[in-house]
Parts: sequence; C-alpha cells; structure tokens
Amino acid sequence: MSTQPNSYADENLPEGAVVDGETLTRSFDDAFDVVIVGSGAAGAAAAHTLTAAGLSVGIVEEGPWMKTRDLAKDVHTAFGRVMRQSGMQVLGGRAYMPMLQGRCVGGSTLVNSAIAWRIPEDVVDDWSARFGLGASITMRELEPHFDALERDLSVREVDPAVFGENNRLFVEQASRHGFEAAPMRRYDRGCKGSGLCLTGCPNGAKQGMSVTYVPWSLARGARIFTSCAVDSVQIVGGRAVAVLARSASGHLVTVRARHAVLVAASTVQSPNILRRSGIRARALGRHFQAHPGLAIGGLFPTTNRPIEMAFGATQGAESTHFRTSDRFKLETISLPPDLAGARIPGVGRELAERLSQLAHVAVWAAQVRAEAEGVVTSGLGGGDRVSYTLTKRDLEAARKACTLIARMLFEAGAREVWPGIHGVPSVLRSIDDVRHLENAPLDPRSYNFIATHLFGAARMGTDPGSSVVDTDFQVHGVTGLHVVDSSVFPTNLGVNPQHSIMAMSRLAAVRVAERATRSSLGRAVARGESARKYAKTLDGAVTAA
Ligand SMILES: Cc1cc2nc3c(=O)[nH]c(=O)nc-3n(C[C@H](O)[C@H](O)[C@H](O)COP(=O)(O)OP(=O)(O)OC[C@H]3O[C@@H](n4cnc5c(N)ncnc54)[C@H](O)[C@@H]3O)c2cc1C
Ligand code: SF4
Repeated sequence: MSTQPNSYADENLPEGAVVDGETLTRSFDDAFDVVIVGSGAAGAAAAHTLTAAGLSVGIVEEGPWMKTRDLAKDVHTAFGRVMRQSGMQVLGGRAYMPMLQGRCVGGSTLVNSAIAWRIPEDVVDDWSARFGLGASITMRELEPHFDALERDLSVREVDPAVFGENNRLFVEQASRHGFEAAPMRRYDRGCKGSGLCLTGCPNGAKQGMSVTYVPWSLARGARIFTSCAVDSVQIVGGRAVAVLARSASGHLVTVRARHAVLVAASTVQSPNILRRSGIRARALGRHFQAHPGLAIGGLFPTTNRPIEMAFGATQGAESTHFRTSDRFKLETISLPPDLAGARIPGVGRELAERLSQLAHVAVWAAQVRAEAEGVVTSGLGGGDRVSYTLTKRDLEAARKACTLIARMLFEAGAREVWPGIHGVPSVLRSIDDVRHLENAPLDPRSYNFIATHLFGAARMGTDPGSSVVDTDFQVHGVTGLHVVDSSVFPTNLGVNPQHSIMAMSRLAAVRVAERATRSSLGRAVARGESARKYAKTLDGAVTAA
C-alpha cells in the first residue's frame, strides 16, 4: 500500500487510512484484496466483515467525510454538504417526487433516522416463491447477521427520557383508535433527543456508518478514498480487476482488486456504474421500487401541553399494523423548523400566526409499500435518472393513510390539520372535514411524496435473462463483480430498509471472504505455506457473521 498523509487530523485513525480526493495533487494507484464502491449502509457493513476476515479492503466514496464536529444544524447548509444534489434530486414520471440520498462518508446513514427493522419473514418467503432465492436467502442465513448488527450498533428502543411529546401522543392515539403502535428500535448509543437526525447527529449518538463501521474498518487496516467518484469497474477477461475513479481535485484514482469488487453505491447509482462498466443485462435498471412517504401536520391548541418537535428522537414511534392489509406503515417525524415551515399553509398574517405556534405542531407520516416499478437510466451528461409513476392502488393506499392520520390528529385534539394535498382544502378545521381527504384525487401530482427507501434495479435471481446478480450477489457472467446494496432486492419491504441492507451485505461479504480465503489457501498450499493460518482466517469470517 502506498501511503498518503491522513488529511483529517483525526487522532484515532491510522496514518494513511484516509486519502482525501479534494486535496490529491496527482493520480493515485493502489491495490487491495477487495475494493468497495460506496461507504453507506451496504458498503460499510461489508468493509467491516471483510476486514474481520483478515482481507485488505479499499473503500472508494464519492462524498466528503463530514465529522460530527463539522455538522451544520440548519437544513440548507447541511443538505448542501451531505445530500446528493443538495437534497434537490427528484424522481421523474407523471409527477416529480423528491428523492433524498446522502452523498458523504456513511451515505444516507448520516442523515437518516436510525430506525432498525429486520426483514419481514413474508418478504423472504415471497423472494423464495417468486424469484427462486429460497436456498440462498433465508431467515436462518440472515438472523446471525441481524444479531451481530444489533450488538455492534447498539440497537434499542427509544429511551423514555427522549421520547418526546410528538411520539407519545401518536402511541396514545393509536391505542385509542384500536391498533398497536410502539417506540421504535434504533441504532442509538445515548440519543439526547435533539431531533436533528436529518442533518446528522451533533452528539455522535446515532450509530451511522461514519462513526462506526467505517472508522472501525480503517482501524483494522482498510483505507478509504473520499471525494473520489467511481466512473466504472474495469473488467478484463470476464473478471473485475479494478475500480476507476476521479478525485474531486480532478485526478485519476485506480484501485485494483485482487479478489473482488463490491458495488454498494445504492439503488440509483449502482446500476449506472454497472452500465458504465459494460454490463448489458436486460434487467439492469428495471424494477426500481420505493416506499414513497408523506407527512401530515396537526396544530394543537396553545392551551395544551406544547409538543415541541425540537425535543425527542427525530422519529420515535411507529405502527406496522397496516403493512400487509393496506400496504402502509405509520411513523412520527419531528421536522426541524426550516422544513416544517415549508409545510405550513397560509400567507401573511395567517402564516405568521401559525409559525408562532410551531411548538404546538405534531407531524405524523406514512410510508407506502408501493407496487409501482420504475426504471433507472443514465441521463444526458451521465447523471442518474429514475422514471417512476405510482399506480392507482398505490395512491389509494396513500389516501387511506392520510385519511387515517388526519382522523387521529383530530381525535387527539388538533384544532387544524394540514394535509398538503392538492385538491383538498389546505386547512381542515374539524373531523367532519376529513371527508375531503376520503375523496382526494388519485393523481400523483396532488401529493407531497418524498422517496428515501429505494430498492431494485439490479435484481437478484437465478435467470440471467430476468436478473442482474446471482444468489451469491455476483453479476451474472463476471467473476468477482458483486452488488451488495438494495439494488439486488427483488421487491421493497414495507419496513425501513437499512437493517436488511446491512444484513444482506454482511451475508454477501462472508461469501466473498470464503471464496477469497479459499483461493488464497489454494495459492498458499501450492507455495507450500501453512494451510492452518488461512483456515483460521476463514473461521474468523464465519464467526464474525
Ligand atoms: C432522510 C432519510 C431518512 C431515512 N431513514 C431511515 C431509517 O430511519 N431507517 C432505515 O432503515 N432507513 C432509512 N433511510 C434509508 C436508508 O438510509 C438507506 O436505505 C440506506 O442507507 C441505503 O444504503 P446504501 O448503502 O444502499 O446507500 P447509501 O447509504 O445511500 O450509501 C451509498 C454511498 O455510495 C456513494 N456513491 C454513490 N455513487 C458513487 C460513486 N459513483 N462513486 C463512489 N461512491 C458513490 C454515495 O455517496 C453514498 O455515500 C433513510 C434515508 C434517508 C435519505
Ligand atoms: S435525535 Fe438528536 S441525539 Fe438523537 S440520534 Fe437524532 S440527532 Fe442524535
């Protein structure tokens, strides 16, 4: 490994562990056992597993490393630094839909709410029945990975001390309404309830990848190339041999892979990296799915106890009661004032009055398990484009969720509800007004959806005609080229995806480690070296899982 001074004066990281593409002054060439593209949920989990198996790992990340001390608290500055296209990325189709993705070390885990959900068993059964993943992707295979993730990343229920009124009110109201809601389980080591998860945790409490698996992997000898955008994977003789990237300072960065390249750049970026690498699978870019989310605000009387969204876990309570029956999940979300402000109806004096009562606003949301499928393509100039239009049934599910939330807000005591749906009054003043929502238009242009949970576009399957990767996460027909993020998921889940993405990525990494160690073992035995040393490394990989 060639060395480069660690430009992050971060005392805890080994010298040379970070190569900063913003300050690189020349082209750079390096080599590792495994090279990973992307340092988000999927990439970081794989890096941690592979380094545990004793393999050398290089991670190439397009975005910068934003340390906890450098995080901005206002949405405009924070999104400008850590979100792809400063948070202005959209899905195209019949309606534009904002799509948020982190573009920094840690990827979207830096800006997400840290909600951890194991993949539901019915989803795994469906993948087995409809996509032939049965023998390879099973609950039994995944469970040890979930266990390890929960230990490593301190998954636990939101502490009652930081539950906050927005969350408390939701759980209470759900129970009155006759269904179960509960505190969320999150990656949390000491959440202080600052409600700032969306701009990055200022307390280092949220266990995102930039404060956990990335630095832990570097401490075990991995190296990360930050601000280096991967253009393509070099494939020679049907084998992935290197990753070709460009640093933010404009230099070519070539990172060679002795055993494997793992693409973990997310559902939108990974398919286009494969395309630029010459992969021509028919299914590539197809079957993109999402959980479009929408939020509804309720204004409570100022005589009530304040809700104060600024205090409490950003997202702290949820219900999966309607996940299979109606294809939506209910959640609370505390929006910072600069985002909440954008959703408050009215102008002039009326708006000013509502803004002055922000402490009495609650926001509850729904994530729809949409059946719609979109297509990821490469736009003019090489950017990523997604075309995605919700179906009538998806809109019916969204409308039903909004109607339920509005009803719950009124029943909890709200004096106004703000649905934010075109074609419905912007302010509902009583529970009778909820009828307007029941008849809301079934037109995607009417709704304020946001997409943050993304799936598909490089599907896993046994048939190269209808999938992109095989059941070992390897691109059909290319040795050593793996995709390990949710691009490979044949469907969406109906629950928050980070935990399942990381468990799948760990599973992939263990399989890559087994193969790599076996081939090292083969070479070592051919050289007459001790087989025991390599077998021990392999055991380590499996135990780590
Ligand atoms: C606001 C928000 C809130 C969310 N809340 C939750 C939640 O509470 N719970 C949950 O389960 N899920 C949540 N999610 C979704 C979850 O964060 C993502 O599903 C998950 O992080 C995706 O993992 P990934 O590794 O595929 O992608 P990411 O985590 O997005 O990481 C991909 C990384 O690849 C990098 N990359 C992309 N292209 C290139 C390239 N060409 N070269 C080099 N690097 C590249 C990106 O910069 C990025 O760092 C949320 C998402 C958002 C945006
Ligand atoms: S609510 Fe605040 S302290 Fe808790 S994890 Fe989110 S940002 Fe960190």
